Amino acid sequence: MKKLIAALALALLSQPALAEEAPKWSLAIHGGAGTLDPDKMTPEKRAEYEAALQKALDAGAKVLSDGGDAMDAVKAAVIIMEDSPLFNAGKGAVFTWEGTNELDASIMDGRDRSAGAIAGVKTVKNPILLADKVRTDSEHVFLMGAGAEAFALEKGFAVTPPEYFATPARREALERMKAKQLSALDVDHKFGTVGAVALDQNGNLAAGTSTGGMTGKRWGRVGDAPLIGAGTYADNRACAVSATGWGEYFIRVGVAHEICAQLSMNELFRQGLAALGIFPPATNEPTITAQTIADEVMDDVARLGGDGGVILVTPDGEAIFSFNTTGMYRGRATSAGVNEVAIFGGEEKASATPDH
Ligand code: ASP
Repeated sequence: MKKLIAALALALLSQPALAEEAPKWSLAIHGGAGTLDPDKMTPEKRAEYEAALQKALDAGAKVLSDGGDAMDAVKAAVIIMEDSPLFNAGKGAVFTWEGTNELDASIMDGRDRSAGAIAGVKTVKNPILLADKVRTDSEHVFLMGAGAEAFALEKGFAVTPPEYFATPARREALERMKAKQLSALDVDHKFGTVGAVALDQNGNLAAGTSTGGMTGKRWGRVGDAPLIGAGTYADNRACAVSATGWGEYFIRVGVAHEICAQLSMNELFRQGLAALGIFPPATNEPTITAQTIADEVMDDVARLGGDGGVILVTPDGEAIFSFNTTGMYRGRATSAGVNEVAIFGGEEKASATPDH
């Protein structure tokens, strides 16, 4: 063991200086995963979703290509999806059993792992901004309900009338659920949560997620989206992740942190093997790819009975999707010129890695 640690330290100290590279940036977004059937989506509806995703992607990509901060890119992208009635976040959030819209959000900065989260908020137009305010202007990470709203007032957030968040389609979903005694999944097997993950040109990672939760939620139910480690995680040493799906399973697996932890361990393992000469450091290839790790963790969610998806970016600028549903509203853009949005499985055209 001592030998392994010594060899590892030596390998780390004797790493050759990295060649000058143009700074990379990378962004991935999602607007929820679910049972999405191309035959059931009209071309008009599809175009509407694609335009909304593209607008969010462009807003975040502009921040990053201008040299801005990963946190600002995440907020810029998420706000646009919160403001769109198409997604289950901000305006267009699903209804609780009692007929209200209760919003959850979280955000994390990978440079210092500072984080903010809120749950069960009813009067804040952009929950992601309130989550960030908790991060920057409080000693806490997670505020809920009336307390979170009192904090919002104190910090100068406008009070948005609750009717602003309500849309006819989401109300109809609740009514259908009650009339037919359906479960949240039967009524609408779609998770419209929104999220963004970013790597900026300074090598900082950030992740944010915002949601209305699941249709007909009651008893103060909170899903994974506002939970740091479940729906959102960012660590400059590993990755940034935002999740969407059946929150209870994502909480049990600790999806976002699990992916980052496995990536960190994989990197340590690779360096250990290289230090022992077992694995040639010259190739500098990861032993297991970030895509494999994300897929494995999503398989674990599926083994428990859950479904959904994740987006992640790595310190190398890979922008990755992984989902075990038939589709996920998603998009990615990188400094290498990747810029695409997709809805159904297998629609990606570009490779995930920026290639400078
Ligand atoms: N993950 C969210 C929740 O369980 C739902 C979603 O992704 O739409 O609250």
